[in-house]
Amino acid sequence: MTERIAIYPGTFDPITNGHLDIIARSRAQFDRVVVAVSQNPGKSPLFTLEERIAIVKEVVAAHDHIDVESFEGLLVDFAKRRGASALVKGLRAVTDFDYELQMAQMNYRLSGVETMFLVANPVYSFLSSSLVKEVAQFGGDVDEMVPPEVARRLRERFRGEG
Ligand code: ADP
Repeated sequence: MTERIAIYPGTFDPITNGHLDIIARSRAQFDRVVVAVSQNPGKSPLFTLEERIAIVKEVVAAHDHIDVESFEGLLVDFAKRRGASALVKGLRAVTDFDYELQMAQMNYRLSGVETMFLVANPVYSFLSSSLVKEVAQFGGDVDEMVPPEVARRLRERFRGEG
């Protein structure tokens, strides 16, 4: 039987417990999940692409059949190269929806690759990488929002040690 592969794309600057929840739930639906980390220079990331990939690899290390890769260019081209049948997106609120709907339709039109939406766990629906960074920057406690490795790196980065 052919392996059913999903791509979960994002910037992951840094990965949060909300992202991890989507990864685990996608893995329950697919044989393999490829976490596709995008460079995204437009967003001036706090962590470099290499750091973001290393962090995601560290936090998913204990899980089988989850790959972490970077991608450039069109996401649907990457999805085709990886033999994926679906893209997975998390929806936190209606504000995510407009843009994601348009992207999903465009990606389907371009390639026939489906987009599957997973509704955010309400426990994490307020969580975004940018808010986590803002809280951490001012010394707030983010321990409940990100894996311990990420909380540690945020503390190092904002103390100027990272
Ligand atoms: P982007 O740069 O595309 O916004 P992110 O790294 O912020 O990428 O997020 C990647 C994906 O994870 C998106 O589909 C986003 O909707 C989803 N996501 C982000 N935070 C959460 C969360 N707390 N719960 C569920 N999904 C989330």
